Amino acid sequence: MPSGHAYGKSIRTVKTCVGTEHCRFGTQQSMSMGVALEKMLFGMWSPHKVKLAVSGCPRNCSEAGIKDVGVIGVDSGWELYVAGNGGIKTEVAEFLCKVTTREEVLEYSAAFLQLYREEAWYLERTVHYVQRVGLDYVKQHILEDADNRKALHQRLLYALQGTIDPWKERLPGTAATPLAAEFIPLPVPVETV
Ligand code: SF4
Repeated sequence: MPSGHAYGKSIRTVKTCVGTEHCRFGTQQSMSMGVALEKMLFGMWSPHKVKLAVSGCPRNCSEAGIKDVGVIGVDSGWELYVAGNGGIKTEVAEFLCKVTTREEVLEYSAAFLQLYREEAWYLERTVHYVQRVGLDYVKQHILEDADNRKALHQRLLYALQGTIDPWKERLPGTAATPLAAEFIPLPVPVETV
């Protein structure tokens, strides 16, 4: 499991509930969806921090309704919410659309985040960006213009290609590095009587 980004103006982590993998109420596999989103977005820098969550059903145990991108599983697919915010001033995310496939969740989420990356001001959270430009503007660029949505998605993937996981540099067996020494157990002195 890679470590999340704790401080950067970047993707933080994708929080999930346990979904159909472990919960009898679940309608969708939220854990694997969260992993897919996090892998797609790993290393993404942004105007301000970005948090996502995925819930496996509308009970919404991962609190996707107060995230920059919230994904909620329903019987027939996934609902996408954007521009939520926890913290000091809680803002409820706004409903963006409903999609049916995992690929659509990734594409629409990426398109929204790339639009935000390209247009938001530095230190402007998604909630303030969407309040400034309007949700209708976001819908025009993502829902009503499929070519633009796909292009935004591709620009994000292009920007993230070649992202290096700094933690993997430390794994033994990868790129002969002295950092791997961090994983070599220290010898424990044995006391002899
Ligand atoms: S959101 Fe639904 S699927 Fe996820 S843990 Fe809660 S009840 Fe279960």
